[in-house]
Amino acid sequence: MISGSSMSPGIAFGKPLILRESNISISKVKISDDQIEKEVLKFFSARHKTIKQLKIIKDMTKNSIGESKSEIFEGHIMLVEDDEFEKSVIEIIEKEKKTAESAIKKAINKQIKSIEKIDNTYLRERALDFKDIGTRMLKNVLGIPIINLGSIDNRSILVAKDISPSEISQLNLKKILGLIIEFGGKASHSFIIAKSLEIPSIFGVKDAINKIQKCSYIILDALNNKIYCNPSEMEIKKAKKIQHKHLKIKKSLENLKNFPAITIDGHRIKLCANVNGIHDIQITKSQSADGIGLYRTEFLYMNRNSFPCEEEQFETYKKIAVSINPNPITIRTIDIGGDKTTSCIEFPKEENPFLGWRAIRVSMDRKEILHTQIRAILRASNFGKIYIMFPMIISIEEILYLKEEILFIKKQLKKKKYEFDPSIKIGVMIETPAAAVISRDLAKEVDFFSIGTNDLTQYTLAVDRNNEKISHLYNPISPSVLRLIKKVISNSHKEGKWTGICGEIAGDETYSALLLGMGVDELSMSSSSIQKVKRIIRNVSYRDAKKLAEKSIKKSKIKEIEKTTISFLLKRNLIKKTSHSKNSL
Ligand code: PEP
Ligand code: MG
Repeated sequence: MISGSSMSPGIAFGKPLILRESNISISKVKISDDQIEKEVLKFFSARHKTIKQLKIIKDMTKNSIGESKSEIFEGHIMLVEDDEFEKSVIEIIEKEKKTAESAIKKAINKQIKSIEKIDNTYLRERALDFKDIGTRMLKNVLGIPIINLGSIDNRSILVAKDISPSEISQLNLKKILGLIIEFGGKASHSFIIAKSLEIPSIFGVKDAINKIQKCSYIILDALNNKIYCNPSEMEIKKAKKIQHKHLKIKKSLENLKNFPAITIDGHRIKLCANVNGIHDIQITKSQSADGIGLYRTEFLYMNRNSFPCEEEQFETYKKIAVSINPNPITIRTIDIGGDKTTSCIEFPKEENPFLGWRAIRVSMDRKEILHTQIRAILRASNFGKIYIMFPMIISIEEILYLKEEILFIKKQLKKKKYEFDPSIKIGVMIETPAAAVISRDLAKEVDFFSIGTNDLTQYTLAVDRNNEKISHLYNPISPSVLRLIKKVISNSHKEGKWTGICGEIAGDETYSALLLGMGVDELSMSSSSIQKVKRIIRNVSYRDAKKLAEKSIKKSKIKEIEKTTISFLLKRNLIKKTSHSKNSL
């Protein structure tokens, strides 16, 4: 039995598809003169095959995700077609008498080495592109099969060491039944995306590839954190029963869709959705979310080589705002940096990217990025209810500066006779301890807060949210984090402002009553979690939830907080004794 650290709920049955770097062995044998032509032809044939594959990937990405994301593959095709590269390979074959594969490898390595020396992130990322293309060409020349994430034909459970946010967005969801990933924790962006796409997944499975490689069939039980290799008939039968029950519960939760999140004593809060792009809107609407509490706009900037222009951004924001109108959408300005990078922006090489040039720091340094985005958001605000939100705020100076910039853009737009919401609401994410500590002052300057517990936990506890090795230390219900959350909510209320939570804890029903009792006004989460959280809210009283929060906030140990919360739910029959998972956030 294999298990991991974080689960995106669901059960999948199927064949594992192991994604691993294949061993590409290249012969060092020198060729004779009469073999030169054959090797050159081999290179051309591999290049032709590579271009054909890249064109298919490009078209598939365009159809499934959109034009902008498919651009990256256009860039790859250009690199493969590059005349200099061709010249270099042929020269190596002819002069050094190397085989086609050996010449391709040498030419690619030469390119990579010269690029890697330059201290420029954009070019360094081009080196990664070269590596990618090089591997593809070598496999083609050697006849090694290539697995393309977007065109996996057989329905299977993907097993990999790691998967990047951009790779997940390339997956063909009709074919991928589940994910088993060695790296990544519950707050890693890849995991968050897997959850929002409702892919049954277990992340943080140590040594998964090794353990699963001999299995021909597996059960991925991402409800109980168990992976069965070559299961017995009994085990399959048992898992099917669990799946049946899970689907039944899911179905029964559907009945809640048309009801508000209101406690039995009449206290109403909002349950909103976190979205990463237009593709999430359908599920958000199907779950009757009260709005979008967090739109992570940085995904619009990923998997591409050039910036989304003002028009593209405007159209995207407008489309989403219109489709969820009259409910609001909170558009967060780009939170690029940390573990989310893009080829559109040059990133410096940093020792501590999460403490470095990230989020608002990038937008403030590169004013054209900020201005383009604010202009697009303001213009879109004419078509729906839009709020602007800034990530990674640490000081009053930052928000004062950003408000000035918004005023400036408003004047610009007015001059150009653009319509926009003149009193658009402005909020900040509270995701640094600094922002939490000065939240009373910040509350005077903004309309609302959204607590980003994923980062607030990482920065408060000084625990990298992506580091598997210390994931046992990462816990948003640590007393220190909880007390900060309480302080932020109280401070916002003292200034007549509202506070939401948009970190992963917002979608964990185990802590819904606790957060409710702390006075939170909105919880924003993966759409798939909304009804589970609503069930709890609708079955507790605000009065009792407040008592639970008061009691929990006084506890100084995580275990005590956990115990208090669980016994609160058990007493009200809201969870079964066995159903609470220690792995939930
Ligand atoms: C957070 O930090 O809690 C948050 C919601 O932002 P992100 O996960 O995108 O960093
Ligand atoms: Mg964050």
